[in-house]
Amino acid sequence: MIVDRLIVGHMKVNCYFCINEKTNTGFIVDPGDDDAKICKHIEENGYNITHIILTHGHFDHIMALKKVKDFTGGKIVIHKNDAPLLEDDNLNLLRYVARIKRDYVKEDIIVREETLKTSDFEIEFINTPGHTDGSMCILCGDIMFSGDMLFKGSIGRTDFKPYGDTKKMADSIRRLKEINKDYKVYPGHGEETTLREEIRSNPYFNENIWN
Ligand SMILES: [Zn+2]
Ligand SMILES: [Zn+2]
Repeated sequence: MIVDRLIVGHMKVNCYFCINEKTNTGFIVDPGDDDAKICKHIEENGYNITHIILTHGHFDHIMALKKVKDFTGGKIVIHKNDAPLLEDDNLNLLRYVARIKRDYVKEDIIVREETLKTSDFEIEFINTPGHTDGSMCILCGDIMFSGDMLFKGSIGRTDFKPYGDTKKMADSIRRLKEINKDYKVYPGHGEETTLREEIRSNPYFNENIWN
């Protein structure tokens, strides 16, 4: 499996391509913006995209969704609790940043805590609310896409109403702490890390910070 990254949009979102190198087929995580750049990258590499998976529904992770879907035919996957954000620019925070026109598109597949089998991968979704209620960590092999829930050395904001929730974030972090397996972590912004490294050194994994 290869994980390939493009940094897109003003918010510098990590858009990932997770590809089986034998079949050149796989999925995209968070086509945040710069649709032309994303589509060109797909075309140049000859990727077949079966799914477009969203770590959560904030605008900076979904702005290129419609164009990338039209281009690839990939099925859009989002957690149930973040599906409303795809249609509502107040909920996905776009209204607070800009009044621009964007393309709307709905999800194809709503997920909860479950496993999705694609032609090439088995992908597991765990719901880790706090940044938004439908934030997911996406697990595939030894890789975790953590969205804006977990960053290298930090975590996502929990003050975006009505979906941000500090208590839920604390529980989500406790849940990640329980995972025994080490994962390579690819966050929604910034550089990659590992789950072990975050558990060891990320201040938000220290229980004292939540008391
Ligand atoms: Zn976000
Ligand atoms: Zn973000």
